[in-house]
Amino acid sequence: MSPPTPPVIVWFRHDLRLGDNPALIRATQTNRPVLPVYIWSPEEEGEWAQGAAKRWWTHQALAKLSEALESKGSTLVIRKGPALKVLRAVAKETGAQMICWNRRWEPAAIARDSEVKKQLRSDGLEVESFNGCLLKEPPEVKNKQGKPFQVFTPMWKSAYDGWHPEAPWPAPRTLKPVANWPKSEKLETLKLLPKISWDQTMLKAWKHGEGAALDFAERFGRDASGNYLEGRNIPSTFGTSKLSPYLASGEISPRQAWHAVLESAGLQPGSQLPPGVEHFFKELGWREFAYHLLFHFPHTPTRPLRADYERFPWKVDDKALKSWEKGLTGYPMVDAGMRELWATGWMHNRVRMIVASFLVKDLIQNWLNGARWFWDTLVDADLGSNTLGWQWSGGCGADAAPYFRVFNPIGQGEKFDPSGSYVRQYVPELAKLPNEYIHRPWEAPPLILAAAGVKLGKDYPMPIVSHEKARAEALAALATIRKEKE
Ligand SMILES: Cc1cc2nc3c(=O)[nH]c(=O)nc-3n(C[C@H](O)[C@H](O)[C@H](O)COP(=O)(O)OP(=O)(O)OC[C@H]3O[C@@H](n4cnc5c(N)ncnc54)[C@H](O)[C@@H]3O)c2cc1C
Repeated sequence: MSPPTPPVIVWFRHDLRLGDNPALIRATQTNRPVLPVYIWSPEEEGEWAQGAAKRWWTHQALAKLSEALESKGSTLVIRKGPALKVLRAVAKETGAQMICWNRRWEPAAIARDSEVKKQLRSDGLEVESFNGCLLKEPPEVKNKQGKPFQVFTPMWKSAYDGWHPEAPWPAPRTLKPVANWPKSEKLETLKLLPKISWDQTMLKAWKHGEGAALDFAERFGRDASGNYLEGRNIPSTFGTSKLSPYLASGEISPRQAWHAVLESAGLQPGSQLPPGVEHFFKELGWREFAYHLLFHFPHTPTRPLRADYERFPWKVDDKALKSWEKGLTGYPMVDAGMRELWATGWMHNRVRMIVASFLVKDLIQNWLNGARWFWDTLVDADLGSNTLGWQWSGGCGADAAPYFRVFNPIGQGEKFDPSGSYVRQYVPELAKLPNEYIHRPWEAPPLILAAAGVKLGKDYPMPIVSHEKARAEALAALATIRKEKE
């Protein structure tokens, strides 16, 4: 009897799907058995190892990936430990000669993957890596001088405008099974779920797996993309795709998202794009821009891109920070956002900008405190987009909102949540207040507060800072670093 054909290892990472997965496709093209492996090695991710909400998401996504693999006659082999050690061990146990994966672009992952590739090749193994996470990878995109972009619009115009990604690959119909499956950890042994039952509301908020991701994309394309230009700013409506956690875990590729939205909006590749769909593609472009910056400026997750902001006189105020984290600032729009985050692991983009501006400019807290809290509580936590979002809000990054542009949490609430539906949903203690006072309860006359059953300072806090005073203080703080620069 001839010995069993050695398998090709596919190392799953931020690409927890079977459709449009170039590493998996490559493995199937060899006609050899395919050995899917997932390695849990948070110590290799450094400071930005997955936070609590993301771990919860990963657990659900891995469960779905396992099911999907089983349905193709395959099995997900789960291991813990340093990636190189695990891959060497699995290759030795199974006789695998080839390993494929899709590239990641976080600084720690780049360093680890380069070393793993080098070592495995020196062991004599064949290693191939692919683009499975982005429309275009950072080294592909350069300005006319061959330099990285620091502003979104020129990058979009130069590399993406009028460009269409190729159609995504379908999932393989079957996967050749391995003759002797190596042993696998049980998913539960990774201990990704929270110890307290904090995930109950998140379980209600989300569905998991690549089927669910495609459903989200199609529903958005069909029902919401036409009104995206307006709808994307209204947090109480179904105005955005909610694809971010699926993109972050790779349950959907950006190319799949692009094509699913295009088709479900009734469009053909190459057809004239309605403004909503065009804008949605641009938002996918912001995700690309985020990775472009992360790759070219790898220090930015912890340090501002604009070096002069290193000297910004941030306040240290743990009490204020805790009030912000818990959604108890006394500003209803900010509190609704922070509570949506806690309840669902996600927050609407408009509200992310409002709460971030409040932390950085009203509470004068270092943006990194916000980035870390988001990192732990977002199911879509993504090092590129989180860094970009916080540095943008902090006024210290590429394409940043100038620091002097301070969001007014009351005005933003009145503009983007005029009927207070969003606030009523997440700050139920204010639910009975009339629209006029829903974003400024401290101005409501005592009779109105009493009729709404609100005792300010007891049921709901008074504002922890005065927005106008804080604004002036923030601008004065900015002036200090400007002066030092002159
Ligand atoms: C302070 C701050 C922190 C953020 N942290 C993250 C994060 O950790 N992970 C994350 O995925 N996004 C982050 N964002 C970006 C944005 O808020 C989310 O991507 C968006 O809200 C996701 O909702 P959606 O999928 O419905 O978006 P849609 O409006 O449907 O957009 C489609 C996709 O485009 C991408 N996208 C949209 N807006 C942005 C943006 N501003 N920057 C980068 N990509 C974008 C996302 O992948 C999104 O899923 C952050 C924004 C801010 C202001």
